[in-house]
Amino acid sequence: MPQPKGLCIDISGVLHEEGETVAGARDAIARVREAGVPCRFLTNTSRKPSRAVLDQLRELGFEANEEEVLTAPAAVARHLEARNLKAWLLVHPDIEEEFEPTPFSGADAVVVCDAGERFDYRRLDQAFGLLMEGASLLAVGMNRYFKQSDGLHLDAGPFIRALEYAAGVEATIIGKPGEAMFHQACDSMGLAPGDCLMIGDDVDADIGGARKAGLEAALVKTGKYRDSDRDRAEELGAGVFDDIAAVVTHRY
Ligand SMILES: [Mg+2]
Repeated sequence: MPQPKGLCIDISGVLHEEGETVAGARDAIARVREAGVPCRFLTNTSRKPSRAVLDQLRELGFEANEEEVLTAPAAVARHLEARNLKAWLLVHPDIEEEFEPTPFSGADAVVVCDAGERFDYRRLDQAFGLLMEGASLLAVGMNRYFKQSDGLHLDAGPFIRALEYAAGVEATIIGKPGEAMFHQACDSMGLAPGDCLMIGDDVDADIGGARKAGLEAALVKTGKYRDSDRDRAEELGAGVFDDIAAVVTHRY
């Protein structure tokens, strides 16, 4: 199997677990650097701007630069820019900085990320109004809930479903497992999807999404991996490895 010319690497569960660096991950990234292989760090997080994600990577001891970090909200912003769409935002205040501000009346797209407390009737109803006038609906992902130290909480998925149901539209998902984010990452390295390998711990979002987008994929047994994911990964034509260090040692 030829060496992948570029890597797409999921962050949470692959490089760190709950803020603790995964054993061997730092050396694995160093080895990738030595081999001169370009990489992109992909995350669906929609409550943190790219610069905070970059800071976190550096705090965990990973060498990384700005152009290597691709968050789902930043991918949505690039998607809007490429299509010259003006978006009204239903997003967490911390990630507003990723987007060009658009007044409600000038919007031809609605962007929904995990907006937390901002998911209230007034804003959802405003989003509904724009969609009924023909605005397109863009979202980072359809995650149903997320886990925090105090338990499970509603993510953006249920709110997006509500808007889809009410307005009779279908959202375009830009974040993983949507193809757009993988293609943006490969494009930014100047590589075709078929030349890139995605390394992730989520068999659906990372592995299923990457395979659909035309990348090779490797599932790691860290983070959210469960034994029942192995068969699904193999069905998808992805390798299964103990951790990122094992993937990198195997391929470079
Ligand atoms: Mg992950």
